[in-house]
Amino acid sequence: MNAEIIAIGSELLLGQIANTNGQFISKQLADQGINVYHHSVVGDNKQRLISTIQIAEERSDLLIFTGGLGPTKDDLTKETIAEHLGLPLIENKEAMDFIEGYYEKIQQPMSENNRRQALVFEGAAVLPNNNGMAPGIALQKENKIYILLPGPPKEMKPMFTDFAIPYIQQLRGEEVELILSRVLRFYGIGESTLETKLMDLIEGQTNPTIAPLAGIFEVTLRLTAKCDIEEQGERMIDELEKEIFDRVGQFFYGYDDTTLSYETFDMLQEKELTVSCAESLTGGFFGHELTKQPGAGQVLQGGIICYQNEIKMNQLKIPEKVLDEDGAVSELCAELMAENVRELFKSDYGISFTGVAGPDEMEGKPPGTVYIGIASPQETKVYPLKLAGDRNAVRTRTVNYGLFYLLKQLVG
Ligand code: ATP
Repeated sequence: MNAEIIAIGSELLLGQIANTNGQFISKQLADQGINVYHHSVVGDNKQRLISTIQIAEERSDLLIFTGGLGPTKDDLTKETIAEHLGLPLIENKEAMDFIEGYYEKIQQPMSENNRRQALVFEGAAVLPNNNGMAPGIALQKENKIYILLPGPPKEMKPMFTDFAIPYIQQLRGEEVELILSRVLRFYGIGESTLETKLMDLIEGQTNPTIAPLAGIFEVTLRLTAKCDIEEQGERMIDELEKEIFDRVGQFFYGYDDTTLSYETFDMLQEKELTVSCAESLTGGFFGHELTKQPGAGQVLQGGIICYQNEIKMNQLKIPEKVLDEDGAVSELCAELMAENVRELFKSDYGISFTGVAGPDEMEGKPPGTVYIGIASPQETKVYPLKLAGDRNAVRTRTVNYGLFYLLKQLVG
């Protein structure tokens, strides 16, 4: 089943509000294993809405509308769709009783306009609105499903999850009994490289399906299986996951809604290990990421923000010769910073960050030149990186790489 989401409202086109309804519905549909191939946004204009519906009917089975169900003149969704489908609008008693009851409760006179909100297509199902006035509408006609939802998110969201999804599930009948999803999160690999490595799996996907998504500085894959029983679905996803890990497992860091800082923190805590940090380029950002987690004091021993060479020399005992000859942005400096901060704070691991955030070059090195050092009880490793992006992107990526490399060392 392919779905299309049509958001209606001129304020969306004018950039006054963002289409968060589209985002919410898309995510819910993905959880149901329903493909969303198109989002459309259209203003409060009858002709343009009709042509949007015509295009959607040619390419999608499920059309979901949000907005324009209110009582005012520019709320034309229901009337336009009724005209397009050739269906009369009739007053729905249940919806009318609810609206009248609402006005009685607030002791306000009901305007004639509000009667329009109780009008529903003949033969359609009413989706109750427990958070507002306008009921939603659901209808199946000629193998297409039409779902009309109100615009305000606080009304639309519960209506969608509590009433629209069960309606869709019921129409899909026995087709799907159970849908399981698992999200795999990757760091240090771009979306296109990941997809290239998995191209044959993505192209040949049927069940389970693989949906790649580029996030902020990371890539995720959502694996979704349709199955009769949970064990069967889990097994199908496990098998696909194994094939994926054989190819790109070195970039994987966690499942579902996790984060790099959480995973790294969790692993340190589980292994009862501590870390300390020497941050030049990142100015405390790494420490900030780790201290987001409760119980941070058990794993983060301490840190030094060492921007000036004097601080590197006096606090971290970096020899002046290294700073003069190799430079503060160098492999050797990163190595010594990591080792010396580990020593200074008596932690199991020491991590260091040095580099050029930009926009100007430093020591003749271009922006994006980064060295991350990790000193462990066994050895010290330095990871040289060339990162793209502006100052903040370079700093954020650097911290994420630091968390990622540390996690990989901890996992072994
Ligand atoms: P109302 O009875 O409030 O008029 P409605 O169903 O007619 O409801 P609209 O008038 O289109 O909905 O939108 C009402 C409000 O809902 C908008 O001002 C906006 O705040 C929010 N809204 C509408 N569409 C969206 C959307 N796609 N994403 C996020 N918010 C939206």
